[in-house]
Amino acid sequence: MLTNVELETFSINGVVLQKPIIIAGPCSAETEEQVMETARPLADMGIKVFRAGIWKPRTRPSAFEGVGSRGLKWLQRVKRETGMLVATEVANVKHVYEVLKYGIDIIWIGARTTANPFAVQDIADSLKGVNVPVMVKNPINPDVNLWIGAIERINNAGIRQIAAIHRGFSSYDKTLFRNVPQWQVPIELRRLIPEIPIITDPSHICGNRELLFEISQKAMDLNFDGLMIETHYNPEKALSDANQQVTPDGLKQMINRLIFRKPDVNQELMLTLAELRDQIDKIDDHLINLLEERMVVSERIGEHKKKNNITILQTKRWDDMLRNRLRFGTSKGLSEEFIIKLFRAIHQESINHQTKVMNE
Ligand code: PEP
Ligand code: MN
Repeated sequence: MLTNVELETFSINGVVLQKPIIIAGPCSAETEEQVMETARPLADMGIKVFRAGIWKPRTRPSAFEGVGSRGLKWLQRVKRETGMLVATEVANVKHVYEVLKYGIDIIWIGARTTANPFAVQDIADSLKGVNVPVMVKNPINPDVNLWIGAIERINNAGIRQIAAIHRGFSSYDKTLFRNVPQWQVPIELRRLIPEIPIITDPSHICGNRELLFEISQKAMDLNFDGLMIETHYNPEKALSDANQQVTPDGLKQMINRLIFRKPDVNQELMLTLAELRDQIDKIDDHLINLLEERMVVSERIGEHKKKNNITILQTKRWDDMLRNRLRFGTSKGLSEEFIIKLFRAIHQESINHQTKVMNE
């Protein structure tokens, strides 16, 4: 993995990985039997990287927090008996020392840890002079700079094999997903640091088995570099994240359904794409012009309100407006969620313009 996405293959500890890199294994290592029974069929189907959480960052302290260091021996056994590379999460310096002692091949930094620069810096400092690939999950909040900051801290420690893991972002609103994918964030990461491979973790995005295929296919269509999918020999009995884990056989069936499209589409397709993108660009320009016109009208309303000494926000008007836009928008095939978000943003911008006028 790591460092150069132009290369279609990566090598770690003598194991050659090809794009798309599939990382599979349980959310948590629970027992030696569970680890081995999950690992064997994965190795048989050609999976090259095995994951298992040893220390689990749980939201509430009553949940299963992982087996701790004794599970590292089970990962060593997986490596010895199947030849797969083994990967686990580290959240502090003690974890780093333990995984290095047991020869774990790849480590990852979890979403909650990435959100904390002090914790990431401590981990980075403990990795100085060590040659171990590190995967950095996105922080729980959709902040691409915080994600890049964590990657930079690891890079500054001298680690040369770094990948990013996209695992979605938490949200207060109830959504279809456990963690909203917000694809624009990993796309922006790719734009800003194109040399870092991106692995999507559909398990933590979806929170359930049913949506895994859709998210995995989307990641492949965006030309991301791999997938990390939680796999358990008996998912219903899993001690953590039971709803989102699949059996090794379920994983195999899902991977077989995935379509891997080529990033280098042929000339004719390129032209069709370019043409359609051109149309999109024109429509977006048009949208911006319309928004500008709308703000000019808003400012005139602001002047009127200022002259007559009335408040900017007229709740009744805003309620009526949103209801009408929702009716019209949904009749045009746009989702309710989108219309609400769009008009909230437009309305906020109008208020900002009016406030400026009123304070002049
Ligand atoms: C995990 O991979 O099991 C995990 C805890 O993930 P995240 O940090 O994305 O929540
Ligand atoms: Mn998990």
